[in-house]
Amino acid sequence: MNNEFELIYEGKAKKVFSHDDEDKVIIEFKDDATAFNALKKAKFEGKGKLNCLISAKIFEILINKNIPTHFIKLLNENTLIAKKIRVIPLEIVLRNIAYGSLCKQTTIKPGTILAKPLIDIYLKNDELNDPLITQDRIELMNILSSRDLDLIIDLTLKINGILKSFFENIKLQLVDFKLEFGYDSKNNIILGDEISPDNCRLWDLNQKNDTIVSLDKDRFRNDLGDLIEAYSEINRRINEFV
Ligand code: UDP
Repeated sequence: MNNEFELIYEGKAKKVFSHDDEDKVIIEFKDDATAFNALKKAKFEGKGKLNCLISAKIFEILINKNIPTHFIKLLNENTLIAKKIRVIPLEIVLRNIAYGSLCKQTTIKPGTILAKPLIDIYLKNDELNDPLITQDRIELMNILSSRDLDLIIDLTLKINGILKSFFENIKLQLVDFKLEFGYDSKNNIILGDEISPDNCRLWDLNQKNDTIVSLDKDRFRNDLGDLIEAYSEINRRINEFV
């Protein structure tokens, strides 16, 4: 990004710049990957571009189904223009299949198909290691009213319905994903952040047996290799279908 725009925030995977229009921001996707609260770090050339292109396509699909999101348009292959939001400091995780932290913290076996989607909410706070949080604690901390929390949960379930069937069409199983929401300039709650293999678990359904083939950040978390190949395959299937 040239220095015409001011860097207003740099996170683990993205940089956010100001825009001439104060209701908008420019989001640049980085090639950096982190896992386990940034204890594990690496760089994958081309990851930023793939996540940006995948996110843009997914946001378009959601907008077409009337989900309010921050996405406005792609600026180039690794940068998009979005509405500026006041980020709500919560990570909303929806799980269709048990995996990852759910199986580390409970006796539920990895791969268990959940009878109904499970929503786990985490406090976005690196110092506290993003702890699992309850509805009562969210209200106690004045993060959200119960009405707005209900709205976010309802949107998350709707997004799951849309994405689960979209990914099934391209032979991918949506195991779980993480969303972040915020308030726009009119105080409406809208979806922010990104939707990419960095924050969704996607398993290849083109497998003859029950082997799990992860096409997502688990390739980095669990040292499975070929991360760029996996993300490129997702991008390829999305573009073939849309
Ligand atoms: N996730 C994320 N950011 C986080 C934690 C989780 O995007 O800081 C996503 C992760 O990619 C997965 C889902 O949320 O799709 C559920 O992750 P889980 O709680 O199992 O955490 P893990 O132990 O795998 O980080």
